Amino acid sequence: MRNLVREINKHCHLYYTLDNPIISDIDFDYLMDLLRDLEKETGMILPASPTQRVGGNILPGFQEHEHRSHLWSLEKANSIADLKTWEAQVKKAIQAHNAVHPNFPLPDPSYVVELKFDGLTLNLTYNNGVLVQAATRGNGITGEGVLAQVKTISSIPLEIPYMGLVEVQGEGIMKLSTLKKYNETAIEPLKNARNAVAGAIRNLNPQVTAERKLDAYIYNIGYSPDLNHTQHSEVFDFLKLNRFKVNPYVQYHSTIEDIMEELESIKLNRPELDYLIDGAVIKVCDLKTRSVLGYTSKYPKWAIAYKFEAEEAVTSLNSITWEVGRTGKITPVACLEPVEIGGVTVSSCTLNNNSDIERKGLRYALGKDIIVRRSNDVIPEILGMEDPDAIGEQVIPPQYCPSCQRELVKNGAHLFCTNTWNCEPQQIGWITHFSSKEAMDIEGLSESTAKLLFDHKLIKDPSDLYRLDANNLVGLPSFQIKKAAKLLNAIEKSKSASLARFIRAISIPNVGSNSSKILADAFGSIERLQSATKEELTRLPDIGEIVAISIQAYFGNEKYTTIVSRLLDFCNPENPVKVDQSLATDNIFNGKTVVITGTFETMKRDDVTLKLQELGAKVGSGVSKNTDFLIFGEKAGSKKTKAEGLGIRLINESELLSII
Ligand SMILES: [Zn+2]
Repeated sequence: MRNLVREINKHCHLYYTLDNPIISDIDFDYLMDLLRDLEKETGMILPASPTQRVGGNILPGFQEHEHRSHLWSLEKANSIADLKTWEAQVKKAIQAHNAVHPNFPLPDPSYVVELKFDGLTLNLTYNNGVLVQAATRGNGITGEGVLAQVKTISSIPLEIPYMGLVEVQGEGIMKLSTLKKYNETAIEPLKNARNAVAGAIRNLNPQVTAERKLDAYIYNIGYSPDLNHTQHSEVFDFLKLNRFKVNPYVQYHSTIEDIMEELESIKLNRPELDYLIDGAVIKVCDLKTRSVLGYTSKYPKWAIAYKFEAEEAVTSLNSITWEVGRTGKITPVACLEPVEIGGVTVSSCTLNNNSDIERKGLRYALGKDIIVRRSNDVIPEILGMEDPDAIGEQVIPPQYCPSCQRELVKNGAHLFCTNTWNCEPQQIGWITHFSSKEAMDIEGLSESTAKLLFDHKLIKDPSDLYRLDANNLVGLPSFQIKKAAKLLNAIEKSKSASLARFIRAISIPNVGSNSSKILADAFGSIERLQSATKEELTRLPDIGEIVAISIQAYFGNEKYTTIVSRLLDFCNPENPVKVDQSLATDNIFNGKTVVITGTFETMKRDDVTLKLQELGAKVGSGVSKNTDFLIFGEKAGSKKTKAEGLGIRLINESELLSII
């Protein structure tokens, strides 16, 4: 059976990845039948069995997957000038490094240009030669486990020759020809290939994924403790050798001028491609240079995405409505004459605020033509009036809340309704947010259901959800016993949601999913988060001053704390504080350059070095403007003086001990 699985997987690779089958379809089907019979007979299915590609049972939910190494997003270049700035930074960093390490200089930079696919990023984990996990990108740190769905993608190998632990990254795509074919017979045609692939993979029914006949290009190795590649080309060779489908379009260049030419040719050939791309990715080839260049808090410094211009259309601005959000923020929404842009119908478009209307020259645009842009991956955006001199009706911002009539307050560029506890859209907004997928994930509690319960005075804030019972629900419009039971079940289930979800759910301003996870890992309970000092908060990665102030203001508000403590009567969102694993990334030293000077009372200097390296710091010998921190002990000399002069953050021994 083992040999049969291997044989069929080999033919899958030849057929789906290399497009070069060596046996007929009939022979292939025969082998598959043979395997199915064997599996039935023995009651055993090997993990890499190709019979699993058809998709199995509907799954109960997505399991979180923590990526072994961060899936970064890329910095974007919208122009050649951006690209040149990036190249200059790369060169400068290399020169700076070489000045300090003249004996081990980095080579002159050379670059690889790849296509930027417009699909869904995937992270695949292989161990002992078998695909053991597949996950979406998520927030880059954790994604959703989608193994059963990804197994249905024929070009993704279920087993590979390499036996070590490795995570590879790529993009799930739906070919345009496949989409067209699918739509010919589909009851519900899919709007575009990008949504089609995301909807297919983030679908709890793997059979739906299988029906869409997805494909995937793999382009990077994320985590590989036992591999020591030095060049981009070696990475690609490894991927090919291990049967991954690699896009044939990979071009190496050493000057920005050549890259510019390359980009033009990609643009020219773009309509010929059978899949969506929205630009090209340019990376430094040399992997040692990559590690020297390192990362900002968001992006690798050694790669950049060049985005092609988005598509635009002209349509009429019919009206502007003012919507009240969950935080009381008033957002103008432009209602447009429906228009098709890049295969998607656009009929409304959010504007940021009143100044946005001014900035875009839309003050007198009502009833006139405006230009809307939609790039592949962003929501539609109004650029301005088609004829800037045209004069339509005036857009007048409201003075009073369109929902509760309370006078609006201006805060920065935004208008706010401060009637938090008695303004329906804000109250319903919080309940809907509380129940949403990324928060407590209460299935069945949509915005309309929340409104229904609110209108019937069954809930005023999220804590009321946990007091609902069947008597409350049955008899409401469209609520039968079954639906009520389902909702109550989902509410019950949410009581054991993780602390990160709980923090996200209670709607602290400026605290998103990513920060929630960081806070949950760092504090382990709501009580501890509540009593955290500003210093403790800002010490965490990605938690800045504004977020820290928001958290403290939130817990300083009695109305919020009352609701939170009522919620805690029902929910138990504990989270063990992560120590070892998170330490490597969730601390201020991670990825930073640190210099140590002087002697320390409680530990040897070598131990300090070791500890900082464990925390992900690069420990340097000399102070320069690239130094992020200077750790100083007794008898610190010239290094400290120099660091002070450069404005580098100084950390003494007791401060260091409190951090590590
Ligand atoms: Zn209001």
